[in-house]
Amino acid sequence: MGCKVLNGKDLAIRIKSELKSEVGVLKEKGIFPGLAVIIVGNDPASRVYVNSKKKACEEIGIQSFEYALDEDTNEKELIELIHKLNDDDKVNGILVQLPLPEQIDEDKVINSIDPKKDVDAFHPVNVGKLMTGNPVFLPCTPAGVMELIKESGIDITGKECVVIGRSNIVGKPMAILLLSQNGTVTICHSKTVNIEEKIKNADIIVAAVGIPEFVKGSSIKPGAIVIDVGINRLEDRKLVGDVEFETASKVASAITPVPGGVGPMTIAMLMENTVKAAKFQKEGN
Ligand code: NAP
Repeated sequence: MGCKVLNGKDLAIRIKSELKSEVGVLKEKGIFPGLAVIIVGNDPASRVYVNSKKKACEEIGIQSFEYALDEDTNEKELIELIHKLNDDDKVNGILVQLPLPEQIDEDKVINSIDPKKDVDAFHPVNVGKLMTGNPVFLPCTPAGVMELIKESGIDITGKECVVIGRSNIVGKPMAILLLSQNGTVTICHSKTVNIEEKIKNADIIVAAVGIPEFVKGSSIKPGAIVIDVGINRLEDRKLVGDVEFETASKVASAITPVPGGVGPMTIAMLMENTVKAAKFQKEGN
C-alpha cells in the first residue's frame, strides 16, 4: 500500500479559488471583506507569515490593512489600535501576528479584540464556543488539519488520535476538533510518560511539537495518518517538520509534507474566517 501525500498547497488553492468567487458575489451585494494585520517588531518569520497572509487577501479580493509597529511599541498603544479597528466598519477581521515582544501581554491583547472580528479564534469567547460545540470561527491551523484529514478519506469516528503538543493555538483546539468528529483523543506533551507507546497506538497523529523530525517512521503504526504541523528552520536554512518525512512516509497511509502541508491550509482557513466575519457583520449576527 502506497502512502498518499496530502498536498496542502493544492487544497489551499482550491479553497481560495472558491472564496474568491464568494467574495465576488458579496461585493455585488455591497459587502467588501477587509482584514487588518498587525505586526509588532522585526521577527523575520513573522514578516514571512504576514506577507503570505496579505498575498492571500490580494488573490481572493479581500482588502488588507497592514499595521507594522515598532519593536518597542507598548501594550497600551497596541490595544488602542485594536479598539480603533474594532470600531472600523471596513475591518471585518483583526489578526495580531504572534509572538509579541516581551513588554506586551499576549492575553490582554487577544482579549481586546472584538470576538466578532477575532478571525484567529484565540479570544476566550471563541475558545469557549469551540469547547461547547458552537464555534463561529474555527482556529485556523487545527481547521486546516481537519480539512487535510478529510482529504485522506478517513472517517475519524472511533479512531485513536494522538495530538503531540498542548499549546492554545494548536494542540488544545486540535484535540477538541478531533473529539467533535468522534475521535478518541490523547494529548501528549513534554511531561508525557511512554509517549512512544501512545504514538505507536495512534490511527491519526498530529505533531505540533516544534522539535525537528521528532516523530520517526519506526514509532508509528503501519497505515496511520500523519499530520505534521511543525515548521522548523535548521541551521543550514532547510525547513523541516516535526515528523521525519523520509521514514514516516514509508509506514503511514497518508502524510503531509513540510513545506506545502498544513502551512498553506492555515492561511486558507484565515481567509475563510475573514469572509465569514464580513458576512456575519453585515447580517448583524
Ligand atoms: P509551542 O507553544 O512551543 O508548543 C509545543 C508543545 O510541544 C508543548 O505543548 C510542549 O509541551 C510540547 N513538547 C515539547 N517538547 C516535547 C517533547 N519532548 N515531547 C512531547 N511534547 C513536547 O508550539 P506551537 O505554537 O503549538 O507550535 C508547534 C509547532 O507548530 C512549531 O513548530 C510551530 O512553528 C508550528 N506551527 C505551525 C503552524 C502552521 O501554520 N503550519 C501554525 C502554528 C504553529 P509542554 O506544554 O509540556 O511544554
